[in-house]
Amino acid sequence: MEDGEDVRASSERIKNGETEAWLRECEEKYKCPECGKPLPVGRMKRKCYHCGADLSKNS
Ligand SMILES: [Zn+2]
Repeated sequence: MEDGEDVRASSERIKNGETEAWLRECEEKYKCPECGKPLPVGRMKRKCYHCGADLSKNS
């Protein structure tokens, strides 16, 4: 997954009025697979700061 592409696609969708769907997708996407807690979008993608799970190999 390339971050640049992802962000661009997201902006496109927001422009198209899909903000709500996009937000929901983000919530799912940045949920820690280990503990299930939501992660701050675009910041702590490598490591869950709740449980410390290494997320870099899950994406
Ligand atoms: Zn976690």
